Amino acid sequence: MLVVGASIAGVRAVQALRRQGYEGTLRLVGDEDVPAYRRPELSKRFLAGDLSVDQIALATPADLDCDVLLNARATRLEVADQRVWIGDAGADPRPYRFDGLVIATGAHARRLRVPPMAGVHVLRTHQDAELLRAELATSPRVVVVGGGLIGCEVAATCRSLGLAVTIVEPTGALMSGAIGREVGARITELQSGHGVDVCVNCGVTELRGGNRVESVVTSGGREIAADVVVVGIGSEPNTSWLAGSGLPPATGVLCAPNLAVVGARRAVGAGDVVAWKSSGSARPVRMEHWENAVRQAETAAHTLLLGESAPGFDGTGGLFWSHQFDATLHVLGDPRAADEVRFLEDDPGRQRAVACYARDGRVMAFALLNSADWLGSAGRLVRQRAAMPLHGTGEPLRR
Ligand SMILES: Cc1cc2nc3c(=O)[nH]c(=O)nc-3n(C[C@H](O)[C@H](O)[C@H](O)COP(=O)(O)OP(=O)(O)OC[C@H]3O[C@@H](n4cnc5c(N)ncnc54)[C@H](O)[C@@H]3O)c2cc1C
Repeated sequence: MLVVGASIAGVRAVQALRRQGYEGTLRLVGDEDVPAYRRPELSKRFLAGDLSVDQIALATPADLDCDVLLNARATRLEVADQRVWIGDAGADPRPYRFDGLVIATGAHARRLRVPPMAGVHVLRTHQDAELLRAELATSPRVVVVGGGLIGCEVAATCRSLGLAVTIVEPTGALMSGAIGREVGARITELQSGHGVDVCVNCGVTELRGGNRVESVVTSGGREIAADVVVVGIGSEPNTSWLAGSGLPPATGVLCAPNLAVVGARRAVGAGDVVAWKSSGSARPVRMEHWENAVRQAETAAHTLLLGESAPGFDGTGGLFWSHQFDATLHVLGDPRAADEVRFLEDDPGRQRAVACYARDGRVMAFALLNSADWLGSAGRLVRQRAAMPLHGTGEPLRR
């Protein structure tokens, strides 16, 4: 068995295959230079300088009951011959035959379409975070382009380091793509309350400077001085190595409900790279969260061992979290699937909110701001697709 991508989805797939009884040869291949690490820390304590890469290690090769190839990149998949070509430590790629393949190559950060300029960063790998961290030491003014999860966390960390931070976000509220404008407004208040200059309904039209960035110009015509710009405008799945494999075109690796790769025998997908087509939905979705990668790896391993008849992945109870300043946001289920949101609790003074999202009156998701005490009951309501609780104030969901 071959697992391509040595981060959380790949590592958990290896562990799940062994736990589920696979005793044959197992190889884990990853193109990063260090063993798997807890990527979510990159925008949090790692960026703040509180943790080293060793301290965020997930599993060392010695912890895993398999061959581990680091600095090794898969360059081609041959579906009919069940082979993956792998270039190891700069050597020419060689073919590896597989009886079972897990595709867990994740995603990379999307970049602004501007010529390369010093001082402009993205954040996806430990190297990105180390570069950014080093520049923050001498850069008092930070502009974050994009107010999604990563942008908000970077802003919070930079602000906590005492830097002047501006977030430029094209929608009307921070994190609105993931949680809608109503709850996004609470995140906007949280960031503003800690002194972040939040510029919503603002696109970026230009980065100014010579070799090094000096300012960001917004669609409203405002010019914001910047020593460092961090671009957090989403990610793209790592699928370039699959070009020419004949897999169907999709944003990501198109997978069946049980995570079998569509168009390939004996292959499954897990994690951020997957475009998952659930049995009930018309369009495939990518769920780019840690806990999703963990759970998909478990199902993918099961499907590989059991074959096509393996049961589908249960995407209903997904969870992601975000830490910003002293606040924690938990999101259960998928708010993007809802058409209504209702605040069951809303206490801006204590920065506490419980928002329930529903479609056709049935609970699809919860967002819990500093309300971890709701995790158990919210999870139950989401899994049961319960009727929307009637107390609190409801309104149509806006993005
Ligand atoms: C800064 C940051 C903060 C985050 N914070 C949170 C958070 O608070 N909560 C949350 O739920 N999620 C968070 N996430 C998202 C979470 O980290 C991802 O969902 C998770 O890492 C996905 O795991 P994965 O294994 O699918 O993909 P990745 O972690 O992207 O790993 C894929 C691996 O495959 C390797 N690879 C790619 N192509 C090849 C190839 N051709 N050959 C060999 N190897 C290859 C990559 O280099 C990488 O090591 C955050 C992400 C980032 C970047």
